[in-house]
Amino acid sequence: MSTSSDEKIGSTLAHLTRAMKTPTISRVWEKLAETARDQGWSHEEYLAAVLERQVADREANGTSLRIQSARFPTRKTIEDFNPDHQPGLRRDVLAHLANTSFIPKADNVILLGPPGVGKTHLAIGLGIKACQVGHPVLFDTAAGWVNRLTEAHQRHGGLQHEIKRLRRYRLLIIDELGYLPFDADAANLFFQLVASRYEQGSLLITSNLAFSRWGEIFADDTIAAAMIDRLVHHAEVLTLDGESYRTKTRRELLESTNPMTP
Ligand code: ADP
Ligand code: MG
Repeated sequence: MSTSSDEKIGSTLAHLTRAMKTPTISRVWEKLAETARDQGWSHEEYLAAVLERQVADREANGTSLRIQSARFPTRKTIEDFNPDHQPGLRRDVLAHLANTSFIPKADNVILLGPPGVGKTHLAIGLGIKACQVGHPVLFDTAAGWVNRLTEAHQRHGGLQHEIKRLRRYRLLIIDELGYLPFDADAANLFFQLVASRYEQGSLLITSNLAFSRWGEIFADDTIAAAMIDRLVHHAEVLTLDGESYRTKTRRELLESTNPMTP
């Protein structure tokens, strides 16, 4: 190809890739064309290679945008979760949750257990998996959700608007339900959120309290029972137990550095 036709095709492609909003193609077409010539790729192989790079970049960007918008407090992954520390947790159940097929079905996940056993870690890990397969996710603590709903409620017609807006998130994560008790208004708002998601969108809830004690959170056994009823109808409930991972790692660290310990 002559230099002037090289330039012409270059500027045409620059224009076309801008119009198509495909910056990766704009970046890789030339280098891949060289490789294609060197290795004798067919036109179809070259086209596939260029498009593959664009799609891979777009998916990666979409994932990182979704992870940012989800507002996870930290990054934790399922791969970093050590299941040996939770012998009661069935690995097949964990693997099943990690494939995120519960989300299109609008099923829920409830993680119960004392502090430090990995509930938040698993919640974030599953949330990140959901982001990776393309689901919008939003994370907050139970107290954070109540604040958000209370603020919306104070605006005229705001609660229904907010609840409707939240429908675009295929997974809502509610962490630390039970650490702070709710007053009657908060319990009512929270109930409306749970009711609105029933068979419509997934909730992932973590709590330090067994269901039998949820009446204490809402200061009302009836509302707690109505909530649990809706939540567990289509849900995977996992109970984690054992020693706090935080205490365990601290103790192991101390033991390994303390010469007095046998
Ligand atoms: P919880 O939410 O149940 O109170 P976290 O999820 O915050 O507990 O876990 C406390 C700390 O211990 C976190 O840093 C978490 O990453 C870590 N952790 C807990 N369980 C595990 C595990 N099984 N494998 C790896 N890290 C864990
Ligand atoms: Mg936690």
